[in-house]
Amino acid sequence: MRRNREECAALDAADPLAAMRQEFTLPEGVLYLDGNSLGALPSGTPARVARMIEHEWGHGLIRSWNDAGWYGLPARLGDRLAPMLGAAPGQVVVCDSTSVNLFKVLGAALRLRPGRRTVLAERVAFPTDLYITEGVTSLFDGARSVLLPSAADLDAHLGEDVAAVVLSHVDYRTGELLDMAAVTERVHRAGALMIWDVCHTAGALPISFDDCDVDFAVGCGYKYLNGGPGAPAFLYAAERHQGEARQPLSGWFGHARPFAFEPGYEPTGGIRRFLTGTPPLLGMAALDASLDVWEKVDLAAVRAKSLALTSLFMDLVEPLGLEVVTPRTEALRGSQVAVRHEDGYAVVQALIERGVIGDFRAPDLIRFGFTPLYLSYVDVWEAARHLREVLESGEWRDERFARRSDVT
Ligand SMILES: *Cc1c(COP(=O)(O)O)cnc(C)c1O
Repeated sequence: MRRNREECAALDAADPLAAMRQEFTLPEGVLYLDGNSLGALPSGTPARVARMIEHEWGHGLIRSWNDAGWYGLPARLGDRLAPMLGAAPGQVVVCDSTSVNLFKVLGAALRLRPGRRTVLAERVAFPTDLYITEGVTSLFDGARSVLLPSAADLDAHLGEDVAAVVLSHVDYRTGELLDMAAVTERVHRAGALMIWDVCHTAGALPISFDDCDVDFAVGCGYKYLNGGPGAPAFLYAAERHQGEARQPLSGWFGHARPFAFEPGYEPTGGIRRFLTGTPPLLGMAALDASLDVWEKVDLAAVRAKSLALTSLFMDLVEPLGLEVVTPRTEALRGSQVAVRHEDGYAVVQALIERGVIGDFRAPDLIRFGFTPLYLSYVDVWEAARHLREVLESGEWRDERFARRSDVT
């Protein structure tokens, strides 16, 4: 249903999440539709990071490893995040980047399935997942990766040699959402392990790793979670695998007795064995502050508003003659809308000049991320109006919008 601005204002007035906007610091005059790439700044983050710098570091110095709880922070943050992922405590740890964490869990998975050497992934996956898969398989004798045209081709390839399957729960380009429970079950029936990349899921919709019987998962902290640029990522390892799992980046933070300084590696018990080296504590402090915000919200309400915002936006942009590549069916989409335009890059630059920030993914997709904590229905209506004006006026054709920056 196509709505007008007044109807959107009425939806805002009745929005149970409207007050959450005050938990964020956003610049005036910006409509931010890129929280799926870099989340906005929670208002409490600067003070939390400053406290770590001035008090814990400046005053506490080395003592803060014990006194301020630095040593336990990766697992503590993991436990704070766990309810958002449907994971019981002790199975999530915050550390490293998504890429590095995928390396660790995929290495562990191949070792848990020694008789099997094939890893399945999707050709359209976020490329770092494919690069890491290529890197890990190159280190295991006889291992190889097979790239499927899409997750729909999974059954045809789930043979007896498949050790693990790596899939994104929400496609970073189209926003398409897979059925975590059904896919995991199919993979298990074939005797393989399931590794989910939930970069575009965490903080966007409720999931349950435990209920879906997921083996391993990875995701990042700087998108919907609002942990800040380059925030540490997270890793989930089901408790049933933790005893046997051996991850290949066996650094001292995963050792049973790191301060015994022994020459041989012996993994510690539990989720901490997935740690490698000294954690980036300032980034962890920022993620800690963002979790203060998340603890105030119900993810079911976030999901309901997210679907309402993405539906509203699709209704408003469809008459513009753009191809919407994101599924209209609610159960099949995450929290973003992607539209196709031959000159998508220039259109995005023209929108950014108007203060409407989305992004572009080659070769021809314009992506808009919808973050219910700090976006209103009127914001979405205004963003669609700007997109219509940019397209109708042809202002995107100006040559200044064609120049590409390093990051698109
Ligand atoms: C953003 C994203 C990543 C990012 O990986 P980093 O190692 O944190 O840079 C990985 N996978 C997917 C699906 C993503 O969307």
